[in-house]
Order: sequence, then structure tokens, then C-alpha cells
Amino acid sequence: MTEGRLHTRTLVALSSLVASGEISSIELTRLFLDRIGRFNGRLNAFLTVDPEYALAQAAAIDRSKQKREALGPLSGVPIAVKDNICTRGIRTTCASRILENYIPPYDAHVVQRLRKAGAVIVGKLNMDEFAMGSSNENSAFGPVRNPWSLERTPGGSSGGPAAATASSLVAAALGSDTGGSVRQPASFCGITALKPTYGRVSRYGLVAFASSLDQIAPITRDIRDAARLLGVIAGHDSRDATSYPGEVENYEVECGKAIKGMRVGVVRDAFEKGCDEDVASAIDKALETFKQLGCELVEVSLPHISYGVSVYYIVAPAEASSNLARFDSVRYGLRVLGEDLFDTYAKTRAQGFGAEVKRRIMLGTYALSAGYYDAFYLRAQKVRTLIWNDYAEAFKRCDVLLTPTAPTPAFKLGEKTGDPLAMYLQDIFTLPPSLAGIPAVSAPCGFSSSGLPIGMQLCAPAFHEGRLVRITHAFEQSTDFINRRPAAFELD
Ligand code: GLN
Repeated sequence: MTEGRLHTRTLVALSSLVASGEISSIELTRLFLDRIGRFNGRLNAFLTVDPEYALAQAAAIDRSKQKREALGPLSGVPIAVKDNICTRGIRTTCASRILENYIPPYDAHVVQRLRKAGAVIVGKLNMDEFAMGSSNENSAFGPVRNPWSLERTPGGSSGGPAAATASSLVAAALGSDTGGSVRQPASFCGITALKPTYGRVSRYGLVAFASSLDQIAPITRDIRDAARLLGVIAGHDSRDATSYPGEVENYEVECGKAIKGMRVGVVRDAFEKGCDEDVASAIDKALETFKQLGCELVEVSLPHISYGVSVYYIVAPAEASSNLARFDSVRYGLRVLGEDLFDTYAKTRAQGFGAEVKRRIMLGTYALSAGYYDAFYLRAQKVRTLIWNDYAEAFKRCDVLLTPTAPTPAFKLGEKTGDPLAMYLQDIFTLPPSLAGIPAVSAPCGFSSSGLPIGMQLCAPAFHEGRLVRITHAFEQSTDFINRRPAAFELD
């Protein structure tokens, strides 16, 4: 084993090396910390790195190993979490000025689970402010850059988790997904992300954006890693009222199972209009691969998904406008003193929130206000039900549904910042499954003519994450896309 190549191994592979004693967690953690030190300046993926905390966790794992105690499924492997997931004693900013110095007094449910599973949490990752965005350009602390092409966006809002994982600054990361925020960045960075069914992972300790949509999700280099991480973070938690009480399946055993006879639903009208040529042709090739693997391709239509963008950009801002009301300068974060209480609220929020967050608060407040509620919010909720029904109908005819993850490969930084609507249209494929609450994976399925990664999105009925793991794994085994890596980060 050559030390220099260790960082290219998957989370699952690295945890077995630690478990078998071939490498210590301290050695592994130093290796990744060293890579972060070397490359983060170029990418701006990390907002906080805590070497002391990381090395202390690694030392604890190594001590357990010496005492021959059983190690957890993530034993000793460095990973990082998006900066809207609370970490006790470590700054959690949501990439916002308003929480710039906020240090949570508790760990999120998923962080507790990670620690229990033996993961080494090395730091917190950059994102669009409060997870609102599709390019990471809404971070108050500067955009993240795409490891495949530094003048391009890594996608958003989990740009930090995607860039850090794609360039192997960590073995894997946790992001959050409200309308595509792990899937679109994974697609732009050539890696894998698995958004679970709404309710599968506790939201306790995730700073709320749109509570009926938010889910925490793994961002990894292959699907087996995603399955391992999901197995660790999934499960009931009484601190989240929407947490699903059912058993967690063993997702990893799905890797290697045959997919012959699986019915893949193709939503043709969805990707033939308005989709980049390279993306459409990568999806066509992916369909061919599924056919060769013995799948049956079934054309399905989802008549209401064209309303996905309109519905989401009412529902999500409406929920955001009430969730973000808590940032009032009294209980959390920034306080800019004004002449009286109201003036203090106004000044704090004016200085603390960035332009996109303010836009969403205004949109949401408007959609919920008396006189407009019925016309916008209530109507959007009704159309959301129609979208939900479309999926229920489609899944009578197929087992999974395939679309592109995003209509284009990674675009250039600055290209869409002046046009919020163009930015919102990035989410055209990822929003409908979020509105329906169903699980969805984004996995690498090709490269554009200029060498940028392209991702496909596979969706399944609620609580069928295992099916997504199975089909994605079969695809990975018969293609080579997950093995390509951004060259600039392979210097050592
Ligand atoms: N891009 C979408 C938005 O801006 C989705 C973000 C997310 O999933 N957090 O709202």
C-alpha cells in the first residue's frame, strides 16, 4: 500500500484498514488534515477546521483499537459536515454573518450518530447562506470552487461538502438537501449523493430552512459509502416530530445484487426540453447501460412536474420566512443595537442576512400574507399534492425513475448571479422528488465534451433507499465514472 494514494480510497475501504490495524486513525487524520492545509485555499470548501478536536477523536479510536474494543462502522475515518449541522463547541455559521460567531451547545442527532460510529469529524463545510442557492455563491464567506475547474461552481447549496469529497480532503461528508442541495453539487463534482426519504433522518440540530423538505444526506465517492453513512444516520429520533419510526434496512447488502428485470421509468419530456446536449446524451447512454443490465425501460409521464419550480419557490420561502424569524438578535448570533427593540431587529437582520436570504424572506412573507395566502401558498400546497400523486401513479408502472440531476454541467462562477430565475431553473429535476418526499440519488454517469462531470438522478418510492443503492451499485460496476478524479488534487 502506498501512503500517497490512501486518500483516494473510499470511506468503507479506509474504515476496514483502521479496523484491521493496517493504519491508525491518527495517521489517517493527519493525512487528510495535511491535504486540507494544502488544498483548501484553492477551494474554500472548509469554513472551520478543528485539528485538535479531530486528533483527539482519532486518538480515542486508536485507544479503543488497542484495547480490542469493537469499532464502529466508520471507525477512525475523517469526514466533515455542512455548516448548518450543529456541532457542540464548534462554530456553526450556516455561511451567514448573522451566525458568524454562533457556537452550539449541543450536537445534532446525526453528529451524535457519527461520533458513536467512530467517525473523526475534522471540520465544517462551506455552503450557500442558510442552504439557499444552487452555486455556493450566496455564502457570506466566499464561493467554493469546483475541483474539476476552478473558475466554475461546485453547485449548491452543499458546495463545500461536494468539493471536499471530490478532491479527497475528506473521505465523505454530510450535506443537507431541501430541493437538490446534495444532488446537484454531487452531479457537478462527479460524486454520489443520496437524499433519503423525508423523515428517514432526524433533523434535530439541522438549522431549519424549509422544514417540510429538509433532509440530511450523505455525499460520498461511491454508493456503498453512501449506504454505509445512511445506515449510521437513519432511524427514529423522538426530538424530531417528523422522524419515521420504522426499522432501518441494511442498505449495504443491496450492493452486488442483480437488477435484471427492474423497471426503469424514463421521463422523456422532462429532459428533452431545455437540457444541455452533453447531459441528454449521457442520460441516453445510461439508459443503454441499464438495458444491457437486463432492466426494462418504461416511458412514464409526470404531468405536473413542470410546476415543481413554481411550487417549491413558494413553499420553501414561506417556510423559510417563518423559520428565520428566530434570528432576532435576542437569542442567537449577531446583535446590532438600534434605538429601540424594533430598530434592533431591523438593523440586525439588515446587516446579518445576505441578499438571497432577504429575497426569500420577502417572497415567503408575501405568499403567506392575508389576501395572498389562498392565491399562492394554499394553491402551491394543492399542486404539491398533484405532484405527489404523479409519482404514486408512475411507481405503479416502474421501480425507479431516471432523469438528469441538473440540466447542465457546472457553470462558471458569476454566470447566473444576476438572474435569480436562471439560478432557480437549475433545480428543475431535483425539486419534484423533494416535494413528493421520496428518496433520490445522484450518481456520476458521464462527462461533457470539455471534461466536466455529469450526474443522473434516480428516484424510488418512499423508504426504498435500498433499491436506489442496488441499481446505482450495478451501474457503477459496469461503468468507470466514479474512478475519474480531478487531476489538480492528485499532485502528491
Ligand atoms: N437550490 C435550491 C434552493 O436554492 C435548493 C437548496 C437546497 O436544497 N437547500 O432553494
